[in-house]
Amino acid sequence: MMSEILSFNRFFITVVVTFLISQPSYAFPRNDLKPGGVAIINVAPVTQEKPQVSYRKKPVAIIKGKHNWLALIGISLSAKASSHKIKITDANKQSHFKSFRVRNYHYRTQRLSIPNKNKVNPNKKSRSRINRESLLKKKLQNTYSNKQARLSFMRPTTGRDSGRFGLKRILNKQKRNPHSGMDIAAPSGRAVKATESATVIFTGNLFFTGNVIYLDHGNGLLSLYAHLSKINVKKGQMVKRGQVIGKVGSTGRVTGPHLHWSVYLNGNTVDPALFLKKKDNNTKSLQK
Ligand SMILES: [Zn+2]
Repeated sequence: MMSEILSFNRFFITVVVTFLISQPSYAFPRNDLKPGGVAIINVAPVTQEKPQVSYRKKPVAIIKGKHNWLALIGISLSAKASSHKIKITDANKQSHFKSFRVRNYHYRTQRLSIPNKNKVNPNKKSRSRINRESLLKKKLQNTYSNKQARLSFMRPTTGRDSGRFGLKRILNKQKRNPHSGMDIAAPSGRAVKATESATVIFTGNLFFTGNVIYLDHGNGLLSLYAHLSKINVKKGQMVKRGQVIGKVGSTGRVTGPHLHWSVYLNGNTVDPALFLKKKDNNTKSLQK
């Protein structure tokens, strides 16, 4: 009897270990067809030449999968729950369309009290600054470089998740834009690391983001790090995955020190949690 239990245990352990080892290492974001999600779509077998794909007239990232070329499409937070089309053009300039369906998703509401009232109801001078900066931000988030997208994202700093992506926001009792990234609460001065290898495309101080860094990971995949107390990198610089690029702070529109981390794909802000391995997601505070 005893030996049967032991041999069963050995069998069980072997099964569990084999299962763990055979889990694929995470190279892609998770496919999640929600507004603010990422659609991963087979566009051609890898035996064919890499096609070109566009969504809403913008080029999208193409990754070589095991058997197929895969289009990675960033879905806008304001996308309708309906059928969406992508255009696939092969090496012979022949085009066809493929569609995917965005599902309904309910984002929760977060109410925050911002001590600096001008960050919620900006005065005239601040409003003209905001207008100028919103044009710049639009241009930056639509950057598309031809270098192959890098996808092994890591959590840029340690700390509790204090604001999930997509939360509907009520600031000082007034409705504002939904949350465009992930907030990680951390003490001022904690190191902020590049989530993946990239080129720095912008550093500076903007009205809402405070001290901010934009990184270009290739093929329209970008990441942004906001509210920093210190910026350690310069525009044009190449950074490695995990390299310290700045420090957590409380510049811009904040309730306290934290890192706001955004991810952009084909111009749309998408849920950064989809790019992290499950273990790097702070599941405790993500559950609600
Ligand atoms: Zn934030």
